[in-house]
Amino acid sequence: MNQYDFHCHSSISDGLLLPQDVVQRAFDRGVKVLALTDHDELSGLAVAREKAESLGMTFVNGVEISVNWGKHTLHIVGLGVNPDTPLLCDGLAHIRSGRTDRARKMAEGLAKVGITGAFEGALPYAENADMIGRAHFARFLVDKGHARSMQAVFKKFLVPGKPGYVPHIWASLPESIEWIHAAGGLAVLAHPGRYEMGKKQMHELIEIFTRFGGDGIEVATSNHTLDLVGRFARLAEEFGLWASVGSDFHGTGHYGDLGTFPALPSYCRPIWEALHVGLPDEVVDETDEMPQDLLN
Ligand code: AMP
Ligand code: MN
Ligand code: MN
Ligand code: MN
Repeated sequence: MNQYDFHCHSSISDGLLLPQDVVQRAFDRGVKVLALTDHDELSGLAVAREKAESLGMTFVNGVEISVNWGKHTLHIVGLGVNPDTPLLCDGLAHIRSGRTDRARKMAEGLAKVGITGAFEGALPYAENADMIGRAHFARFLVDKGHARSMQAVFKKFLVPGKPGYVPHIWASLPESIEWIHAAGGLAVLAHPGRYEMGKKQMHELIEIFTRFGGDGIEVATSNHTLDLVGRFARLAEEFGLWASVGSDFHGTGHYGDLGTFPALPSYCRPIWEALHVGLPDEVVDETDEMPQDLLN
């Protein structure tokens, strides 16, 4: 269990719980410092912050920006962003638009392999219809029995080369960093172990990310093995980047639960130091003070 979790989703994007319920669950699981990082959306932050503060937690405004890098889709997490920043808000609105058209095309692709009505089927899974995406289709397809798990359904239908995959034009890598910096935040390369690229290309990506001003790497996340944690911890050191942590919680059955991921190696420079956030102050029990008469 970890007290810091800087990556999770609510139903504002493709998580299953409302923002305030994500916060309550994090609190119940012992998380003390939480960032909500919905995909390309900031509208859950205000209610999540209010809930976190009412529970005495420390809250960090976050976002996870979708990015095209060559043939790859990358995710860049922004931490400590001011949600009232026009450059960030306008950039996100731009990349969000077109999700509905993309979803219709995804449904056309699925219809070609005999799965009809997938757009209408997936839509009710998206609390926020404008944010419809692959996770909503995945839940529909699993519930209809087309695959047994989220992992399996992606592999079979929703990754490049499969019938339900439709590419989209997201932000560029430098744009994502620029928007986050304009909003006063830190840019973190999310879940690097999940990208399908060899070691040489990963090294090149981190070098370019650093050159564009990127600030951190998500070293510990729920589907990084200990080997991957070690590898990305060393890369963070090599490039002078902060080490971030987060579950990428979306709801049960989809990645890990809040606060659950491997610990950072002790030599890492944790990103909470750069964000200047810490665990809420411990309550000092005044009865622990030495009685005056014993001091004399
Ligand atoms: P989209 O933004 O519509 O392309 O959807 C991307 C989302 O799909 C990610 O944020 C994850 O929630 C989910 N996702 C992508 N690949 C996988 C996978 N292999 N297994 C489970 N979920 C995945
Ligand atoms: Mn997601
Ligand atoms: Mn992601
Ligand atoms: Mn995520």
